[in-house]
Amino acid sequence: MKFVGAHISASGGVENAPVNAHAIGAKAFAFFTKNQRQWVAAPFTQQNIDLFKSRCEEYGFSPDQILPHDSYLINLGHPEEEGLKKSRSAFFDEMKRCEQLGLNRLNFHPGSHLNQLSIDDCLDRIAESINLALEKTNGVTAVIENTAGQGTNLGHTFEQIAHIIDKVEDKNRVGVCLDTAHTLAAGYEIRTREGFEETFRQFDEIIGFNYLKGMHLNDSKKELSSRVDRHDSLGKGLMTMDVFVSIMNDSRFDNIPLILETPDETLWAEEIRLLYSLVSQGE
Ligand SMILES: [Zn+2]
Ligand SMILES: [Zn+2]
Repeated sequence: MKFVGAHISASGGVENAPVNAHAIGAKAFAFFTKNQRQWVAAPFTQQNIDLFKSRCEEYGFSPDQILPHDSYLINLGHPEEEGLKKSRSAFFDEMKRCEQLGLNRLNFHPGSHLNQLSIDDCLDRIAESINLALEKTNGVTAVIENTAGQGTNLGHTFEQIAHIIDKVEDKNRVGVCLDTAHTLAAGYEIRTREGFEETFRQFDEIIGFNYLKGMHLNDSKKELSSRVDRHDSLGKGLMTMDVFVSIMNDSRFDNIPLILETPDETLWAEEIRLLYSLVSQGE
């Protein structure tokens, strides 16, 4: 079964996230557990937690279909002591917040070397950051998102993600989220049938589908291999709808959150309906 949703707003309190998701006909959702542009946030109240859980239950969202995203400020591969410390403590806080909400995964961008570390050293550092967070938390999987490879962002190749996973001690609590726009911009041609099959053959060989804990379904304003991260609404960018037809008809993408991060939120309800309408047109 496919669980499609969007990265919805949790403004006014995390307990509003399931309500907002339900309102657009989502069967899955993503959200920020705190303001994504600030380092610190007030802890949840018991009321936040209780309402979040009861509303998720009321609207039929299980933790397996909820994919919280961490703050954009965090860089788990930060080359400098202070930035690394701050990032690690903020990431630990976000993992704890997910744990408090009864959630089982946290999606994050691996990190950037800022031209001050080698790629391998930065990947090692990211893995160490994940290990530190997993040691002190329970039940929440660290879900690495592939990136477009903009600037010095790592995680734009399957090999880099595999390198991180390889150095994570608890393999049961590390996973991957693939963003279609990032995948294309990073240089994987997923728009043709052969390219799609080849990309996911490589993904399975290098990383493994058992690690796939979510997908971000976005069109892209930027071309193949552009290494630029610019999402577009479905059908409006350079992706072609074939990619989404393929995903919606492939059982390897069953039972994980399939999340829209498209720029026009007024289209989300329509985009969700559109994606479901693609089921069984793929063969
Ligand atoms: Zn992301
Ligand atoms: Zn994404």
